[in-house]
Amino acid sequence: MRACYIGVDLGGTKIATGAGDQTGAILVRDVRPTEAHKGTEATINNIKASIRQVLEQLGPDLQVCGIGVGSPGPLSVSEGVVYSAPNLGWDHVPIRQILKDEFGVRVEVGNDANVAGLAEWRFGAGEQCRNMIYVTVSTGIGGGIIVDGKLLLGSHDFAGEIGHMIMVENGPLCGCGRRGCFETLASGTAIARRAQEAVRLGVPTAMLELVDGDIDRIDSAVVARADAAGDALASEILDEAIRYLSIGLGNLVTIFNPDRIVIGGGVSNIGDRLFRPLRRMILSRAMRESVSRVEIHRAKLGSDVGVVGAMCLVMD
Ligand SMILES: [Zn+2]
Repeated sequence: MRACYIGVDLGGTKIATGAGDQTGAILVRDVRPTEAHKGTEATINNIKASIRQVLEQLGPDLQVCGIGVGSPGPLSVSEGVVYSAPNLGWDHVPIRQILKDEFGVRVEVGNDANVAGLAEWRFGAGEQCRNMIYVTVSTGIGGGIIVDGKLLLGSHDFAGEIGHMIMVENGPLCGCGRRGCFETLASGTAIARRAQEAVRLGVPTAMLELVDGDIDRIDSAVVARADAAGDALASEILDEAIRYLSIGLGNLVTIFNPDRIVIGGGVSNIGDRLFRPLRRMILSRAMRESVSRVEIHRAKLGSDVGVVGAMCLVMD
């Protein structure tokens, strides 16, 4: 019998479930809508159905050693309870116990960005280095901090909320209710918001053409495309986001002295246009002794990172 692990990547729009082995390779998968609008019970039933679907496809030589769930938080790893997940409409859902009762195997729960960090550390760009910081830059900014080969949870499992470091007093309003958080300045949403604001003010830009005049459709990918075509406004907006990224990541280098920073999420797809200036700018944002030895890598696992990370929760 070969050991296998189930990973559930629970998101606001879809549930992705996979079964994989020790190498992190996904052998079988299922993807289905979360249907959060139908209520907590409907979502839980979809999770169970997704896991059942994966179990049915598994070969007879595979033995399921556990189920890991990566979920939006805040949540309690030790209690296995999702306290509140606005995207899911969840409030104090004891998901670990629910799945344990249903499937009779070990179940562990983790914050989605944290588990993505675990996956990149174990099977991706982290290459199991001693200290690593994973940052996902997409609609928001999330993180996973690995210290001495272990995920940093903090005293109550809330550690690693990189996106909510406040960087500007009275800055833009954040989804968390405070102002000036890192993710309001450097996320994909922040890039899009700034571009849309400038376009509405009438700043000339090629971006308007790229979206056929529909300003709401300007997102970070549109900004990146316009920038690549030489659009001055798009370049200015990207540069500003990269400046904030360099401040946030530079501070993390100064605090944690990591071997590596791994950057994932949709905005990382901008590629060299992001990484080249970011690497250069971080050098002047962090303590020299520390920053001279840090490596900055692009994440490797792509869209599988959530499923693989959830699997990692039950691999030990
Ligand atoms: Zn915030």
